[in-house]
Amino acid sequence: QPVSDMNVQNANEVASQLRDQLNLWRQQYYVADSPTVEDHTYDMAYQRLLDLEAAFPEIVTPDSPTQQVGDVTLPGFSKVTHAIPMLSMGDVFSVGELAEFDQRTKKSLGQDEMSYNCELKIDGLAISLVYENGRFVQGSTRGDGRIGEDITENLRTVASIPMTLPEPLSIEVRGECYMPKVAFAKLNERQEAEGKTPFANPRNAAAGSLRQLDTRVTKARELATFIYYTPDFGALGVTTQSEALKRYEALGFSVNPHAQVCHNMAEIQNYIDEYTTQRESLSYGIDGIVVKVDPVDQQDELGNTVKVPRWEIAYKFPPDEQQTTIREIEWTV
Ligand code: NAD
Repeated sequence: QPVSDMNVQNANEVASQLRDQLNLWRQQYYVADSPTVEDHTYDMAYQRLLDLEAAFPEIVTPDSPTQQVGDVTLPGFSKVTHAIPMLSMGDVFSVGELAEFDQRTKKSLGQDEMSYNCELKIDGLAISLVYENGRFVQGSTRGDGRIGEDITENLRTVASIPMTLPEPLSIEVRGECYMPKVAFAKLNERQEAEGKTPFANPRNAAAGSLRQLDTRVTKARELATFIYYTPDFGALGVTTQSEALKRYEALGFSVNPHAQVCHNMAEIQNYIDEYTTQRESLSYGIDGIVVKVDPVDQQDELGNTVKVPRWEIAYKFPPDEQQTTIREIEWTV
């Protein structure tokens, strides 16, 4: 039923069913690391809930997944408070909606010319790495955005994370921890050989591998990282996201090489087309691209909503039918 044909009462009923369903799926995905539906199914249900809540703001509840950022924290790991919250990201599913983001951004900034840094959206999980005087002192998961899990010792086993920087910088950097396709295939072969349930996807495998109390298990999982953000921009001495990526690389971090500055929708469309084609041949999973306003002063001017930055957006690839490995649950509401 289209949202426009609904009244508050039936919107509330449907929203309540969606919340229960989404919260169950989130539990399976974030806590148990074993999703029971495809991301696309989750995303469509989530989008439906967003639409209902936008049309009827009075039906929003505090426990709605739209009010919460991603992960959870598990017992067994100590907690880390993120001084600057680790946010989620807005999603779009069509180039048309991406063009709306472009229009909205230009309007907010009051300008016609834009520079966007386009990046691959790596299918892993967000991590935070803290360095004091150039030494790695703490690593954590995003958790609920404000409080994450302390996984410092696990992250010490990840080969691409430098334990010392070439400069005595005190800085927090953030990025994605992921499991390369080859490591994922090997892990699932082992799981099956040992009679254990295979992981549904590399993201869940990476998340499960980081939450090991025995760090030797983490090490054996061959995780990798790409760094793409810092909440301490001042420490870097650069003014754009594209320059920041070069600085992370110079500091010894692993940085994804496929970022590209685009100035308009035609260039962004080319970037999407290129990586839709190249996606299969990359050695890690991607589930879309991320478009980020390149100048940091413009990012600051745009700011954040409670849950997502206004200066970046994810374009998610359409689901690939052939890749569907998880049973799709019949979707009725
Ligand atoms: P998200 O995956 O939509 O996007 C935000 C995340 O993207 C960031 O936190 C970061 O970790 C990651 N990212 C990757 N590359 C990046 C880059 N270059 N720059 C910046 N960030 C980058 O948001 P989320 O809150 O992490 O997860 C929500 C998604 O998880 C949903 O859209 C859904 O697809 C999936 N999910 C699936 C289920 C299920 O049951 N299948 C349940 C819950 C969530």
